[in-house]
Amino acid sequence: MNENLLNARLDGQVRRDVVLAQYSSFGIGGPARYFFVAHTPTEIIRAVDAARECDLKFFILGGGSNILFDDEGYSGLIIKDECSRFAICSGGSISAQSGAVVDKMVDAALEAGLAGLEYAAGIRGTIGGAVYGNAGAFGHAINEILEKAVLYTRDGGITIVDNEHFRFAYRKSSLSDSGDVVLSVKLALRPGDKQKLAEIVNERRRFRMERHPVGLGSAGSVFKNLRKLEEPNNVTPAGKILEEAGVRGMRVGDAAVFEKHCNIVVNMGKATSNDVKTLVAMMEKAARHKFGIDLKREILYIDP
Ligand SMILES: Cc1cc2nc3c(=O)[nH]c(=O)nc-3n(C[C@H](O)[C@H](O)[C@H](O)COP(=O)(O)OP(=O)(O)OC[C@H]3O[C@@H](n4cnc5c(N)ncnc54)[C@H](O)[C@@H]3O)c2cc1C
Repeated sequence: MNENLLNARLDGQVRRDVVLAQYSSFGIGGPARYFFVAHTPTEIIRAVDAARECDLKFFILGGGSNILFDDEGYSGLIIKDECSRFAICSGGSISAQSGAVVDKMVDAALEAGLAGLEYAAGIRGTIGGAVYGNAGAFGHAINEILEKAVLYTRDGGITIVDNEHFRFAYRKSSLSDSGDVVLSVKLALRPGDKQKLAEIVNERRRFRMERHPVGLGSAGSVFKNLRKLEEPNNVTPAGKILEEAGVRGMRVGDAAVFEKHCNIVVNMGKATSNDVKTLVAMMEKAARHKFGIDLKREILYIDP
C-alpha cells in the first residue's frame, strides 16, 4: 500500500489509527488504519478513487448507528461522510447531500409544513445510511418518499437514478449488492398540517425516549422483524419472539439485552465487539431453539 500516494490524492488529510468507537453509536471499535472526512460529494469521489488506486478497501461511514465495528478496527480507509447540506425546494421536495442528518431534515420538513418524513423523527444517522438500509419506523420507510438519487457507481460513473433502481425491500436496498455510493438524494414530500405534523414528530420522539436506550451505546434493533411474503403488513416483532424465547436478562461481558426491549443490545460500559457477537449468537440460538425461527440480523458487522 502506497501511503504517500493515498495522502497525496487526499491533500494530506488522511489520519491514521483513528479509534472508531467514537464514530459508532455502540461506542465500540478499534482503530481505523486510515480515516478521511469528506465534506463534499467531490471529496467522497476522490476518496473512493484514491482507495481504489491504492488497492485499499474502503467503507463509507454515515452516522455509525447501524453497524458494529470490530475491536481490531478496520484495515482499510474509512470515509466519514460529513456532506451534510440539505435544502427545501420549491414544489415541496427536499434535496440533501448523503451525509445530511435525517432528524434535522425532519425538523426542516416540519418547519416548512411538509409531510412524509415525520415517521422518521428520532431515527439516528444520515440520509445515505437510511437509503442503504431503507430505514423506517411505524409502518413507513424511506422508499415511500425517495424520488431520485445521485450515485457514484462501482465502475467510477456518476449517475442519476430513480426509486425503482434501489429495489427497496424491508430494511434493504440494492446498495448492499451494488457497492454504489449515494452522493445526494431528492425526497418528494407533500403539503401537510403543521400542527398535526408537530404532534406526530413529538409523539415519535417521546416514544423513542421512553422505549429506546438513552445514554447507553446501541445500534437499534439487532434483528429484522418477521413478515410474511404474501402478507407484508402481517408483522411479528423480533422483540416479541426474543422475549418469549427467554433472552431477557442475558448478558455477555458488558453487552446486555436492553431491559425495555429484547431486540436491542446495549453497551453497559466496556463491551467489546466479541461480547456483542457472542450475545447476538445466543439470542439467535434461543429463537431457533424455541420457535425454529432463523432471525435475520439488521445490524451490520464490519470486518476488520
Ligand atoms: C437507538 C437507535 C434506534 C434506531 N431505530 C431505528 C428505526 O426505528 N428504524 C430504522 O430503520 N433504523 C433504526 N436504527 C438504526 C439506524 O439508525 C438506521 O439504520 C440509520 O438509517 C443508519 O444510518 P447511518 O448514517 O448511521 O448509517 P451507518 O450505520 O453509518 O451505515 C450503515 C450502512 O449504510 C452504508 N452507507 C452509509 N452512507 C452511505 C452512502 N452515502 N452511500 C452508500 N452507503 C452508505 C454504510 O456503508 C453501511 O453499510 C436505530 C439505531 C439506534 C442506535
